[in-house]
Amino acid sequence: MELYSNHISRLIQSLSSLPGVGTKTAQRLAFHILSMPEEEVEKLSESIIDAKRNVKYCRECFTLTDDEVCPICGNPRRNHNVIMVVENSRDLAAYEKTGRFEGVYHVLHGAISPMLGIGPNDIKLKELMARVAAADIEEVIIATNSSLEGETTAMYIGKLLKPAGVKVSRIASGVPVGGDLEYIDEVTLLRALEGRTEL
Ligand code: ZN
Repeated sequence: MELYSNHISRLIQSLSSLPGVGTKTAQRLAFHILSMPEEEVEKLSESIIDAKRNVKYCRECFTLTDDEVCPICGNPRRNHNVIMVVENSRDLAAYEKTGRFEGVYHVLHGAISPMLGIGPNDIKLKELMARVAAADIEEVIIATNSSLEGETTAMYIGKLLKPAGVKVSRIASGVPVGGDLEYIDEVTLLRALEGRTEL
């Protein structure tokens, strides 16, 4: 016998396909959603669809944004000749929160992982190369995570950019190994940025 009705089972299944949501959490969320007023549930599902339909990649840095160009790339007061390379928009937000980085970003949307079958062509690397080739870039700061994937990606980018004569640096590893950038406090992030070394 099925434990739950088909409708509930489907909802639990959909929710448990989200990252970090196990079956137990999915069940809890499903029952919570069912106990919510219908308007609230509608608002929730509309906000999901609305974000999915309207959020796009910034034409320059590939972060997720509502417009063609994100507010950072569109800001003439930022230093457009210094690019910090991050794995995702959450890492960008973490550095942005420190308020101390005046350059612009490049969001890779992932990291190279031979184990997971993610190669250089699966992340926004070609786009980074195109940006560096098109402008007079002073420095590329690689701020990928200090995980195996992050380090692999950093080395790969260093090798690609070095022959182009661009200064490439890597943030210091004040960041704990395997640590996700977004969970690290601002002081540690700033220390990592200030202590960066040239590749
Ligand atoms: Zn941008």
